[in-house]
Amino acid sequence: MESVPLDFLGELRRTHSCGELRRADAGKRALLMGWVHRRRDLGGVIFIHLRDRDGVTQLVFHADTPENLHKKVDMLSSEYVVAAEGTVAVRSAETVNATIPTGEIELVVEKLWILNESRTPPFPMEEHIDVKEEARLKYRYVDLRRPHMQRNIMLRSKVAFAVRETLAKMGFLEIETPFMTRSTPEGARDYLVPARVYPGHFYALPQSPQIFKQLLMVSGFDKYFQIVRCFRDEDFRADRQAEFTQIDLEMSFPQQQTVFDVIEPMLQQAWKQGGYEVSIPFPRMTYAEAMRSYGIDKPDLRLPPFYCVEDLLPALTSHGLPLVAIRIPKVGVTSRSERDALKEFGAERGLRVFDDPKRLDRDHAEAMKQVRARIKHEEDDLLLLAGWAGEPKGQRPEETVLTACGQLRLHAAQKYAEKHKLFDPQNFQFLWVTDFPMFEWDAEENRWNAAHHPFTSVHDEDIEKLTSDPARCRAKSYDIVLNGTELGSGSIRIHRRDIQQQVFAALGFSEDEAKRRFGFLLEALEYGAPPHGGIALGLDRMVMILSGESSIREVIPFPKTAKGADLMCDAPSEVPERQLRELGISIRRT
Ligand code: ASP
Repeated sequence: MESVPLDFLGELRRTHSCGELRRADAGKRALLMGWVHRRRDLGGVIFIHLRDRDGVTQLVFHADTPENLHKKVDMLSSEYVVAAEGTVAVRSAETVNATIPTGEIELVVEKLWILNESRTPPFPMEEHIDVKEEARLKYRYVDLRRPHMQRNIMLRSKVAFAVRETLAKMGFLEIETPFMTRSTPEGARDYLVPARVYPGHFYALPQSPQIFKQLLMVSGFDKYFQIVRCFRDEDFRADRQAEFTQIDLEMSFPQQQTVFDVIEPMLQQAWKQGGYEVSIPFPRMTYAEAMRSYGIDKPDLRLPPFYCVEDLLPALTSHGLPLVAIRIPKVGVTSRSERDALKEFGAERGLRVFDDPKRLDRDHAEAMKQVRARIKHEEDDLLLLAGWAGEPKGQRPEETVLTACGQLRLHAAQKYAEKHKLFDPQNFQFLWVTDFPMFEWDAEENRWNAAHHPFTSVHDEDIEKLTSDPARCRAKSYDIVLNGTELGSGSIRIHRRDIQQQVFAALGFSEDEAKRRFGFLLEALEYGAPPHGGIALGLDRMVMILSGESSIREVIPFPKTAKGADLMCDAPSEVPERQLRELGISIRRT
């Protein structure tokens, strides 16, 4: 890089940002600083777009610009950092740029300082160009300069601030909890940190502050929140990050409703930061209803539900399992091969799909009339009937069928998205899903797992089912769902040691194991633990949906790849042998 003589910042001060000047400022003197975004030479007149996080202002150097200033301007290229001082002038009507807020004015520059040069950036600073994600992550500091990334990160900051403000007004205290701790119970693998002074011992990074926030309730803090990093070592999934951010909160003496009354206005304020009004309260639905209407625990309410119709068509049902009628609006005529593909998708999941409405109408005329009325079928809508093809499967067989039908519904809805156009990203449909099952069957390990986590309360009337019928035992847990994405989950917790012990037993933990893993919590429950409950929401997902992005990496300043690598600072990396020796660690190479 040929070097350019650089100026010092010295005592120079900005008078305005690059997004601030308007027609009313005409005639004022201004000093701006920023990056050279674009430059145009129009035979004698030079225009430079100067950019900072606030916007872009046009600098103009007229033909009569003194020779020494002209020379300096000639040295400028993309992404040079400059300060420019001059007089604000109104642009002539033909040159007004209506696409930017400063488009009616320009700065006629009289003095210019070059504060730093720049290598040619690895990709242009435009938002609508396709850049390989690898390059974006390697040069993240440059990528973050692009206008849409600036918008996303600024929106994230505003959302976090609105969350803090809303919760603080409601009496929540922001309290930090440790990052170097012991294993926590969210069901993923832990990231471990070797403890140098305790050779062979490790801290675990928290999968969530779950236990600590419960302990803060035992300590009497009443209302806690934290915008906090959580660490989970999970297998490759496109939209997961090894570390992600939760809005985590907990309160004492709550009912489920008390938690909802906090989260609804908080989300309302967060969405306001994106310019959207959402109305509260949000609709709610039990897990059982969600399964029977959507076949999923995070329904996307922008699409119509499906309906169980086994009562109308008993001839097509088997083993008393659900028969489901799916409607996808405005699909129009479908080809044989399209229908075959849907049928196959269903078959792969164990379903028998009836895709020929004409035939159904012929064989079951009266029942089909009622089916159509129930599902509110209209002329151009796609209608699929799906039932179970084989023997009942799983601990909750009807759920197995409904889940498969839910997948078929979503698959068909995605396939015909262009036709029904219901996936409008600015149509925000929030929903509470409540009363989840307490347990999920782990077929590999042949035992029950906590569906949420083991500190979740069981419904008062289901306590007996802990031992007699775990499959039907309902939890006092709830999820907040938005457009088919789970934004967060929470629950009313167990605050009594005897019940906590019963749940550990139902999960197959021996008393010893429970004590070893969570002894300090069990003990704390014996020192006057108040009834308490809470929730945690994924901040990354919230901001992703709010900003209309489809990956959380677009709203995290320095994300990792899907495989957990940081391409910019090249982490994870090997460490010098000496460091390992200090930690008492040797690497086994297999
Ligand atoms: N700790 C839980 C989670 O991370 C949230 C909660 O129950 O508050 O999902």
